[in-house]
Amino acid sequence: MFRGEDLAFKSQEEMTRIRGNQIAMIFQEPMSSLNPVFTVGDQIAETLMLHQKMSRSAAMKEAVELLRLVGIPDPAMRAKQYPHELSGGMCQRVVIAIALACKPDLLIADEPTTALDVTVQAQILELLKRLQQELGMTILLITHDMGVAAEMADRIAVMYAGAIVEEGDAADIFDRPSHPYTQGLLQSIPGFEGERGTELYTIRGTIPPLSRLPSGCRFHPRCPHAKDRCAREEPGSFPIGGDHRVSCWMYENDGALAVWSEQLAPVQTGETEGDRT
Ligand code: SF4
Repeated sequence: MFRGEDLAFKSQEEMTRIRGNQIAMIFQEPMSSLNPVFTVGDQIAETLMLHQKMSRSAAMKEAVELLRLVGIPDPAMRAKQYPHELSGGMCQRVVIAIALACKPDLLIADEPTTALDVTVQAQILELLKRLQQELGMTILLITHDMGVAAEMADRIAVMYAGAIVEEGDAADIFDRPSHPYTQGLLQSIPGFEGERGTELYTIRGTIPPLSRLPSGCRFHPRCPHAKDRCAREEPGSFPIGGDHRVSCWMYENDGALAVWSEQLAPVQTGETEGDRT
């Protein structure tokens, strides 16, 4: 759903008008997102000529302004360069400039910092935050990094095997992670404390192929709290206060949670049984 409309019912033509215009996307690998045989200025200008019907010279001028907006020094010179002449961080800024060219309402950022080193990652996240505020757009950030999510998000939806298993206000998710998968993800983050040589916590098992999802709760083969019912029936999404919701039978109602609560002791770090990921 986008602005109250179901995009699945849009024609290809309507989608072409929406994509890159109202909804734009940043991919995780800047080097392979850019076309190596066109200058970066040309690639930004193309979007403006297509969606905003700008002339080539006006679009090239705007491309330089966009490069300035995303913090690229000497943007007029950089606009004439090819992607291989730029660093990974600069290429990602160019990809962001292309995505922002038409001032989208929604920017989907799919692991935008995965291919970058930590310093550049921090700069790109800072840039996205600044642009989000300046341009008043929504960012849908896809990440496996809970640290990045904590830094960026107002609202978090935790997904497992293609389904949302927990959703709520970002601060609330970190204060009281409730789904066993969310708890496992947070426990898996290496900390600075603890004995040297302690084995890192992992969630046992592996993610199932989407073509062969387990019956019932899709997390049950890996869940330390699974009961018989979990393998038979898929849990609904249960509210646990405010707009925090969890897809887990433990939260079906307060009574069930009480019965289950004795099993909710944190999973021991260093567990070695079974196959892990
Ligand atoms: S429904 Fe059962 S298996 Fe699924 S997360 Fe909850 S306790 Fe674990």
